[in-house]
Amino acid sequence: MKLTDYYRKKIHYEELIATFDDMLILPGYTGFNIDDVDITSSLGNKYQFNMPIMSSAMDTVTEEEMAIKMALLGGLGVLHRNCSYEKQLEMVRKVKRARSFVIDDVATIKNDAKIAEAKLRMESDGISGLVVVDDKDRVCGIFTQRDFPYQEELLNTGDVKDYMTKKVVSITPGASRDEALQKLFENRIEKLPIIEEGKLKGLITIKDLKPEFPLASKDKEGRLLCGLALSPKVPNNMASLSILKEIDAYVDLFFIDVAEFYKKIDIDGAKELMSILESDFILGNIGTYEAAEHLLTKVDFSEQFIALKAGMGSGSICSTSIQTGVGAPTLYATAQVADAIADYNPKIGLISDGGFKNPGDLPKAISVGADMIMSGHFFAGCEESPGYVDTIQGRKVKVYRGMGSKEARVSEYILDRYIEGEGSKTLPEGVSDYVPFVGAVSGVLNSLKEGIRNGMIYAGASNISDMKKVKVGIVSNAGRIEQRPHDLLGRY
Ligand code: IMP
Repeated sequence: MKLTDYYRKKIHYEELIATFDDMLILPGYTGFNIDDVDITSSLGNKYQFNMPIMSSAMDTVTEEEMAIKMALLGGLGVLHRNCSYEKQLEMVRKVKRARSFVIDDVATIKNDAKIAEAKLRMESDGISGLVVVDDKDRVCGIFTQRDFPYQEELLNTGDVKDYMTKKVVSITPGASRDEALQKLFENRIEKLPIIEEGKLKGLITIKDLKPEFPLASKDKEGRLLCGLALSPKVPNNMASLSILKEIDAYVDLFFIDVAEFYKKIDIDGAKELMSILESDFILGNIGTYEAAEHLLTKVDFSEQFIALKAGMGSGSICSTSIQTGVGAPTLYATAQVADAIADYNPKIGLISDGGFKNPGDLPKAISVGADMIMSGHFFAGCEESPGYVDTIQGRKVKVYRGMGSKEARVSEYILDRYIEGEGSKTLPEGVSDYVPFVGAVSGVLNSLKEGIRNGMIYAGASNISDMKKVKVGIVSNAGRIEQRPHDLLGRY
């Protein structure tokens, strides 16, 4: 019997559009040591993740800080698209620069620049130092936060050349990690420019060499993996196209990000984007077997197409289904798309997106075929999400808004995530609200990982691929009530 046959029979043929609360995974025989449970997952046989979790491409969830932390901890934070290409370029640069062993795209400053300019650059790029070059672009110093003069007035009037460190300890291209570490240690320094014939070729920093985050999601060069949401519309001017190509150099995974991707216009756009850009693509969202079948069999996408994203109308901030009557809850959508992938191209990965309320929903999504799960709800209240912590009736909160909410649609960039044209502004498909402030994302991820791991142990699956074969079933109403804390005097 195929993996989701049971479920498909129940849901697909009986037209039961079920969601997380409607199903349970049945307990299975656990013949392995619980320390051997492996929650690593992959997308398109190409990208490995030490935890199968992503943060949503939303402007109250994922900008560079969240993206960097998610990747450092083994997942992926998908940068949002409710902004200009210029801002997207800034974000992807920061993610790629965050932890690479060698930074290729080093921030430099001319030796005749003012300290004020250096300070501004360092603050806006979020970096602690700049390499100083002369008018022939030859390295002549290094200027870090430690070189700022203590006199306030000199911060405005002083010149970089008078305060920079002139003795630059450097290394030549091709040096190993160990050689770099040794040099940094011997000289008690934190930054090591890579110099060849006086010219800057890169920079190695001590923080990037430290194996502080052993689970980090990295590219071939050891830099953090970077995912970015993109409109399916091809830019119609050369300037935007050229920034997009620049963005392409920093991005590993483009997420075509629309509420519903099963549309000719979006499919054509994505196909054209693939011919212009070199990075890989994840397409979505879709919600049915037919949509997946169409994309897998009727459209001739390039090899850059590596995964699909499933779910429509389930997001905690989403009102698409009540506004339009259309939807495909995430569990249903995942099972449907998983079946089409199994039928037509098992190499394609699958991300289950939105609607997760409890850690136990994650193993459920995996059991019906997801390789990874994506959530905004779990992460919007974290320290690393954009926005400020507010207080409401003594509780710390953060704003979480749907990308189809009135508030988010004030900007022009996100309009084509939904149905464009007349009415796109008057019929919001999302809401804006508060979620509790929950502190560092690492804590949230620990609970989610535990939910997945413990679910796998109970189900008897020691890895993600076995988890997709476990037995699942629809729960009766009475069963659902019984599955939660009940008959108590307290708040349940
Ligand atoms: P959540 O984690 O349940 O809140 O769902 C987050 C997911 O909802 C995102 O990853 C998007 O796929 C989707 N989404 C984001 N904004 C909106 C919206 O305004 N309307 C509908 N769906 C949205």
